[in-house]
Amino acid sequence: MAQAPSPRPYVGRFAPSPSGPLHDGSLVAAMASYLDARAHRGAWLLRIEDIDAPRVAAGADRWIMAQLCGLGMHWDGEPVWQTRRHPEYQRAFERLRADGRAYGCACTRRELPVAGPYPGTCRPEARGAKGPVPAHEARSWRFRVDRGLEAFTDRWQGPQSQDVATEVGDFIIRRADDLWAYQLAVVVDDGLQGVTDVVRGADLLDSTARQRQLARALDLPCPRSLHVPLLCDGAGRKLSKQNHAPALDTDHGLECLQRAWRTLGFEPLPARGLGEFWAWAIARWAARFGITPAP
Ligand code: GLU
Repeated sequence: MAQAPSPRPYVGRFAPSPSGPLHDGSLVAAMASYLDARAHRGAWLLRIEDIDAPRVAAGADRWIMAQLCGLGMHWDGEPVWQTRRHPEYQRAFERLRADGRAYGCACTRRELPVAGPYPGTCRPEARGAKGPVPAHEARSWRFRVDRGLEAFTDRWQGPQSQDVATEVGDFIIRRADDLWAYQLAVVVDDGLQGVTDVVRGADLLDSTARQRQLARALDLPCPRSLHVPLLCDGAGRKLSKQNHAPALDTDHGLECLQRAWRTLGFEPLPARGLGEFWAWAIARWAARFGITPAP
């Protein structure tokens, strides 16, 4: 079925966290975002999400870039490193504060519920006469979420809706260790980089409603989304660096690509090399999603 074209020129991105090299699981997300961008004849950006410093492995960014090139996946423009973008995050944060959409939170981990939404303990109105948590007492900073259902259609997963207020509550945008939270950084970056289409693994589907609220609060357009199935190990866990997925061996690039392609639910392609693989795969992807490329 044909999908409504995006009114802005297509901009997609792959946004790996450099906690290690690419593995079979992360290649699935990389491949899907690459195929979608190329099928639209759009731009495919590379953003290194190294904002979570404790999780960064030295040299993993270069390794990932070499792996992508080794697989014939060439990004457009210069890659972006989140650690070089503090001023952009700071500006967005100050705007949210000025608009009353961000507030300091003094709750310690022990004071937070083990499960369920943040109960809003530090919302200024909940503190009554004590008033807002003063900045020097704030451990983290939270975004004041909208009430009601956040609904959108994911291009792979179909119609979605989440009541962010009752399911998540006000979420953290600046962490107790003083780092920018993923949610803030990703929304600011997608917005400022003009990303029209977010294509990534289904583990992040659950973050999308939060990111849409944050984008709106910052007057940024909400990108369309497409969340692809995750590759799981034998025990049903997401294949990840944490559970020691081995690095992709790009000496056997075509086999890596065929594996990721099958994980996306397609039949193996009769390709003899990387160039042939991509030509076939882009055409199949375009047919699957009813994409008519920009002229
Ligand atoms: N950096 C995130 C990850 O590697 C992806 C973020 C995103 O695509 O929004 O899981």
